[in-house]
Amino acid sequence: MTDQKIQTFPDVVCPFCGLLCDDLSLQNEGNSFHIDSLDCPLSKSNFLKASKRTALKPRVNGKFVTRKTAVQAAVNLISNAKLPLITGLMTDVAGTRSALNLAEYLHATIDQYSNRAFEINASHIQTNGGYFTTLSEARNRADMLVLIGSQIPNLFPRLIEKLGFSKSDKFQFKRPRKIAVIGEPCEEFTTILEQAEVSASIECELKQAGHVISVIQNQLEKRKDRVPLTHSFPSSAIQSFVQDLKQSDYAVFVWAAEELSFPLGDLVVDSIFRLIDVINQSRRAAGLMLTTTPSTTTANAVSTWRYGKPLPLSFRSGNPEHHPDYYAWDSIMNREDTDLVIWVGGLDQSVEMPDCSMQKILLSNKDYEDADVFIPIAIPGLDHDAHLFRTDLTLAHYLKNLHMNDGYSGADTLEQIYSQLKC
Ligand code: SF4
Repeated sequence: MTDQKIQTFPDVVCPFCGLLCDDLSLQNEGNSFHIDSLDCPLSKSNFLKASKRTALKPRVNGKFVTRKTAVQAAVNLISNAKLPLITGLMTDVAGTRSALNLAEYLHATIDQYSNRAFEINASHIQTNGGYFTTLSEARNRADMLVLIGSQIPNLFPRLIEKLGFSKSDKFQFKRPRKIAVIGEPCEEFTTILEQAEVSASIECELKQAGHVISVIQNQLEKRKDRVPLTHSFPSSAIQSFVQDLKQSDYAVFVWAAEELSFPLGDLVVDSIFRLIDVINQSRRAAGLMLTTTPSTTTANAVSTWRYGKPLPLSFRSGNPEHHPDYYAWDSIMNREDTDLVIWVGGLDQSVEMPDCSMQKILLSNKDYEDADVFIPIAIPGLDHDAHLFRTDLTLAHYLKNLHMNDGYSGADTLEQIYSQLKC
């Protein structure tokens, strides 16, 4: 019997959804990492998957090469490119800063993979502003939580626990707190709702959520003539929901940016904020937009503090220019407005680089034979120290290296390429 050393890591920050829970306790036995402190299926499967990785080798045109050769090949490709695009950006603060350095130097365009969902949701705020809250305030103040979406329990498994809305939660709130759902609840909602005080929920396709919310707004304002209930939603559920809203002191409306990223999803966001405005005339309400990967909030936070603008950015003119649609990575690929894609992976192990006909440099923790140049990189927070911004943008968490798979970070690799280009 072998005597394997068991190592324990307390207070680990989990990088696998925007909540960035910071209370995990991990055990490493041999090469297998287990969470022994909590029950989050998303976190458990991702930690296990990450701990089972095998060491990857760099490739040029599909053939294994040394790291030095791969970096040189990347430098050669970049030197000949006219319209480079840097995307993926599933990385941490340091990785984003290095990618921005490179984009600025190359006069490239830069965008984060999930940024379009963030942008669709943020467009309302850019034009109209909005009342937002934080995870902490929602936990400490809200007495009604309205979840707009279908997959929230799968995307953010510990949300209800973190916000203290579970009946069994040790967190003691003075008044009863209710949860309501607007959308097509997935199976996992059942477990959540069994554990909480439930308000009336309204089942509808997410595309109809804007209409439902407008009806609720009109009932709240007693303007029944303005938006008729045109679909077969039970009016009793809507009335009961409105009653609960009237009795609440602080309602928080929660949604995942990715779930409302369909065409015209911004109209649903718009209706949420119009309802919030109406409630705020007599009581208090706020929105809480969640992002599934902390790399989206991180990339936008870094870009905004550096240039005063979120992603996507284009440096083609020499200055940072922001256009949410024109410079979005998928728009650029679709209109073939680039001759070289530099993809920076890292955090999200399930996202693949989209197929494209351009030349490709891939920095990732997943092997990719079809890239012109593939350079393996480490996962932030698991293989190297990292900083990531939480979904509510109020906190940049420090993630201590767990030494799962020591290797070069995305930032190290981008800096190596950048310094060789400048030589
Ligand atoms: S809820 Fe999200 S951040 Fe928290 S443990 Fe689960 S996957 Fe990690």
